Amino acid sequence: MQRRSFLKYSALLAMSSHFPLWANSEKYDVIIIGSGLAGLNAARQCQALGLSYLVLEASDRIGGRIKSLTNVAGLPELGGMQIGKGYGLTRHLINQFNLPLAPPTQFARGQAMSINGKLLDAKAWAEHDINPLTAPLNKLHPAALLSHYLKKSPVFEAVDWLADNQMKLDISLEKHLLSLGASKDELALIENSFNGISLKHHSALDALKGLNARKNLGRGFDMVVGGNQQLPEAIAASLTRPVQLQQVVTVISGNKDNYQVSCSSGEQFKAKQLIITAPFAALKHIDLSISLSEEKRYAINQLSYTPITQAIFKVNSAFWLNDNLPAGLWSDTLIERIFALKNKAGNVSTLMCWINGTNALALDRLTRVEQHKLLVQQLAKVRPSTKGNVELLHVESWANNPYQGGAYAHYQAGTVHKIAPYVAESEAGVHFAGEHTQPLLPGIEAALVSGMQAADNVTQLL
Ligand SMILES: Cc1cc2nc3c(=O)[nH]c(=O)nc-3n(C[C@H](O)[C@H](O)[C@H](O)COP(=O)(O)OP(=O)(O)OC[C@H]3O[C@@H](n4cnc5c(N)ncnc54)[C@H](O)[C@@H]3O)c2cc1C
Repeated sequence: MQRRSFLKYSALLAMSSHFPLWANSEKYDVIIIGSGLAGLNAARQCQALGLSYLVLEASDRIGGRIKSLTNVAGLPELGGMQIGKGYGLTRHLINQFNLPLAPPTQFARGQAMSINGKLLDAKAWAEHDINPLTAPLNKLHPAALLSHYLKKSPVFEAVDWLADNQMKLDISLEKHLLSLGASKDELALIENSFNGISLKHHSALDALKGLNARKNLGRGFDMVVGGNQQLPEAIAASLTRPVQLQQVVTVISGNKDNYQVSCSSGEQFKAKQLIITAPFAALKHIDLSISLSEEKRYAINQLSYTPITQAIFKVNSAFWLNDNLPAGLWSDTLIERIFALKNKAGNVSTLMCWINGTNALALDRLTRVEQHKLLVQQLAKVRPSTKGNVELLHVESWANNPYQGGAYAHYQAGTVHKIAPYVAESEAGVHFAGEHTQPLLPGIEAALVSGMQAADNVTQLL
């Protein structure tokens, strides 16, 4: 989102909330910007440390990239979904707040595939004549091809990813995969569901760091029963000072021990220190009239975010009985992947269409009406049996959200050494938290850990 649209959006919110200009006289030890998991956990820790704090949140809800559609059967998680077995702090907090955690039960088994316009059962892929792969790779699901190749890459400890001798891997993933022997057909299959902008854009070093870091986190995942959103809600409820919603921070000024934070509401707040958890894709639209190194400013402006757009369809009748294929889908079309979700009675009731990268960006450029039309048309084209049997309920674009700018931070090829060392560094009394500041941990755990660390950094300067 461009700065002009960000300001227009912020001004609209301001009109609907608070006016006129008003300066809050209280000076806090710390102002925390953002009420995703990082901001909330920073506030929880500040409270435990006896600091005075204020959390400012731009949107009208807490949770940021944790968003459970609790009113839809099958309970789609639009944001952070998987709580890995090795998420230590996340599991500790879930336990502390007495939230139920269990392996997911809502995902229907099996998958159809649509490749080159041909619809088949994924079970038939290995021997099917549209499969361009030669044995033994033809037996792999296309989604498994990327890790197959990455596992052939040089192995390094994830903590060493910024060492000088790793920088030769800071090339595009496409180039790296070609060097490992991947064919053009294989690259096209990998690109279909690649969790980034594109193989040409993404750094191989970043992808390998992620793969090596995940090795330490164990296999399998759980979810909070009733929706992951309950975790941010529980943390927020434990705060004695409620999060201020619809406070879009537009200007940060001042210096250590004396910062001012101005919001589009016209309100201004003061603090000795700041914890900024807004994703850099959102932070780059805030006027940062504070002393910051050139490196930090470059990192804020250049860190990339993965575009993800999801479409949620309600299932009105069992369309899969018409083509005798599983309800879920993996495709090489604009709609990419579909997860079939079951309701409490065990029947498939919802389709969650998950679109990454350039297809997500193409959809994001359309108006709501155009998006709706295209998604319905595409689904009917790829899977004719769905025609008249499903209904589009919701579209969520993480890249189009002005306070998010994408699903998760990643590194563009050739940028790791210019950006990564500077993302998390505190500058004077300004501390940075959020998933992007903990590159060795996965999203939810990274956000929680970063918030706690930022609060500890604040106490060191008081
Ligand atoms: C589709 C998707 C799938 C995911 N799947 C997983 C998964 O399976 N497992 C996993 O571990 N992680 C996953 N993640 C990542 C995980 O959800 C995030 O890493 C984590 O929730 C980020 O928390 P955060 O606090 O760092 O940032 P956020 O949740 O983005 O919080 C930042 C907050 O700052 C606010 N803000 C921004 N700008 C301003 C401003 N100007 N003024 C005031 N407030 C502002 C935002 O509104 C937001 O509330 C997924 C994310 C997405 C989007």
